[in-house]
Amino acid sequence: MTKKLSDSSVCISVAVFAPLRTTFSYLPPESEAPEKLFIGQRVWVPFGRGFRVGVVTSTNCEVTSHIKLKKIAELLDVQNLLTTEIIELAEWASKYYHHPIGETLSHAFPTSLRKRKKFQMPVNIDWAITALGKEALESGKLKGKRQIKLMSRLASFSSMDANDFKRSDWDFPWRSVVKSLIDKNFISQKKSHLRVATYGANVGKQVSLNGEQAGALEKIQKQFIGYSVKVLYGVTGSGKTEVYMELIARLLSEGKQSLVLVPEVTLTEQIVQRFKARFQGSVGVLHSQCKDSEKLAVWNGCQTGTLGILIGTRSAIWVPMKSLGAIFVDEEHDVSYKQQEGLTYSGRDLAIKRAQIEDIPVILGSATPSLETMANISSGRYEEIQLNRRAKALSEPVRELVDISKSGRDSGLGKKLIEAIDHHVSVGGQVLLFLNRRGYAPLIMCRNCGTHQICRSCERRLVYHKRANALVCHHCGKKMSLEKATNCCKSQNLFEIGVGTEQVEEKVNLFFPKLRVGRVDRDSVKTSKDLQELFRKISNREIDILIGTQMVAKGLDFSGITLVGIIDTDSRLFSVDYKSEERLAQLLTQVAGRCGRGSGQGKVLIQSRQPDNFVLNKIIHDGYRSYSSVALKERQRLGMPPFSALALLKADSSIKERADNFLIRLREKLMINSSANEVFVSYPIPAFFSPKRVKYRSLMVIQCQRRVFLQGLLSEYVSWIEELGRKMRVRWILDVDPEDTL
Ligand code: ADP
Ligand code: ZN
Repeated sequence: MTKKLSDSSVCISVAVFAPLRTTFSYLPPESEAPEKLFIGQRVWVPFGRGFRVGVVTSTNCEVTSHIKLKKIAELLDVQNLLTTEIIELAEWASKYYHHPIGETLSHAFPTSLRKRKKFQMPVNIDWAITALGKEALESGKLKGKRQIKLMSRLASFSSMDANDFKRSDWDFPWRSVVKSLIDKNFISQKKSHLRVATYGANVGKQVSLNGEQAGALEKIQKQFIGYSVKVLYGVTGSGKTEVYMELIARLLSEGKQSLVLVPEVTLTEQIVQRFKARFQGSVGVLHSQCKDSEKLAVWNGCQTGTLGILIGTRSAIWVPMKSLGAIFVDEEHDVSYKQQEGLTYSGRDLAIKRAQIEDIPVILGSATPSLETMANISSGRYEEIQLNRRAKALSEPVRELVDISKSGRDSGLGKKLIEAIDHHVSVGGQVLLFLNRRGYAPLIMCRNCGTHQICRSCERRLVYHKRANALVCHHCGKKMSLEKATNCCKSQNLFEIGVGTEQVEEKVNLFFPKLRVGRVDRDSVKTSKDLQELFRKISNREIDILIGTQMVAKGLDFSGITLVGIIDTDSRLFSVDYKSEERLAQLLTQVAGRCGRGSGQGKVLIQSRQPDNFVLNKIIHDGYRSYSSVALKERQRLGMPPFSALALLKADSSIKERADNFLIRLREKLMINSSANEVFVSYPIPAFFSPKRVKYRSLMVIQCQRRVFLQGLLSEYVSWIEELGRKMRVRWILDVDPEDTL
């Protein structure tokens, strides 16, 4: 006789949006039929003393405990907003990064859906003037100044929405004026779905691929279904984006969607423009600066399949897509793909995992692939497709290493560089000067007593900003007036050491008073609108010399730039982080790639006080590929990733000793319980970078020869770490495959 399960013996597993490592069991809600429950559904559940949102991960687990289970309070979704693939991705990420499942799953939802809120398509409200309103306006029946202002504006457009009104810069509360005009029937109001984009055919202009691009396309298309990782390794300006677009056009024609990850949307505005020019309304964009309603609309377009292409930063990897055909990761080597706090995922690595789960190809594009990707090419796990020539330009720029070790202090501009600027501008070229340090001087010191000022809250050296007439902490933003800084011994005799972008700008203006100079760094460019405006000026040749930090290193495509000057490379050469040399190689190659994109011969001048440095010479004379093979051999010799696996434990506290003691306790535990040759655990060191809210952060590196060992070790101890953290009142972050160990 088969025994029928009674309803009460079946329960529902829920991953609650809370920092807890297990799922929790609930009984179905009282009033709803059991069929209404499904995996991926958001529910509102009693939790602790309150309630939380969670996601159903199983609908028929068996009751194992004798504790009386609580009932789910409310079903928030009537249909699945996720896909099974996204749930699987989150489960994988939760295990791999050792992050609580509920918090991991919450990444898959736009912020507004992480709360107790039913899904609703975001609406847009348009206002239009009515016939009655027009008459009132024309006949002078309207009295109030504000009403007349608003109605006159409205009369010259067919309709306006809140964004249009906001742009009008009115200094009165226009919403209440609108409301009173609606009440009088002078204005009509219409609600519609917020439209982020519409599905369209390929309409925009299309370049015809050159022979090399066509060859690459053919190679990729040969096997373009099913999971595979392909690396499009193409020099800067070789036309990788055009190849992506061809592949995407093909997928669109088959009714399949594409996901394109880019490092930073504000800096990659150019890419979005190109995609929109070609694919028009099929393109959705998602990044941290989008408004939540836009995010929700884009997310919904992807999930229902009305959007064909999604371009976004790393978090876009979590967006459910109805029929995903391929994932593209542009500039796959970029650090921005790694989330440093909370769930420390790599967008690039999740893209690869997601492609595997969805059984589709993933294309990693770069002119400077990361060393781990190069290693995967060597081992045959990834297929490499090369583009070795630039699409438009006649030739690669000429690179030259300039020794400035004997040139004394000259504000960063060596004699050779000044001559080169003079020459390039005189023949109609534009110049890009790169220096990854903002402010006027990184250090300012009293000549008399030797004092240099440090930040009161974070004990870091303050950077001198001349225009602000202050010293600024680049970590927490705190300022100290210059006047106060000279109080050390009243000698009023300060001197600067080192150079920042502000100083370079000043000196360029001094040397070349007739030239038009622009500067791009976080002090001069506050919004992406400022940045677009500067880019427009460069395109229109309204700027001769552009000075910038890493904000100008990525993706820019301006045909007028013929000279790139790299002011300083040395600070990076001596960093102890094992990846800093790789970063320097990528940065130098990428910055150099900004030049010679038009018809003129490009030139790159790299200033250094270490002209014999092996790494610099390798990168400059033999190129990135050659550098990477040497660097990989070195990593292998030293047993560093990708030839071993790393995790970083970050401990945060307001008290230094507490953070350190927490790590030391953990270190002892790990060392005792693992055989010494399999695991290496460093001593705690103070962190170099940490977010503003963190008072004190200490770091510890855990290294294993093999990834499986590391994963096993972390799985075994993560609960213990959690318990210890609670006891010692230390907040901690586990960073698997860290991009920075400083
Ligand atoms: P990458 O992504 O490799 O840096 P892009 O796709 O941005 O290169 O191409 C660099 C420049 O060359 C762009 O201005 C692009 O419009 C142009 N370009 C690319 N392919 C072609 C082509 N086949 N014919 C003409 N111009 C091209
Ligand atoms: Zn500070």
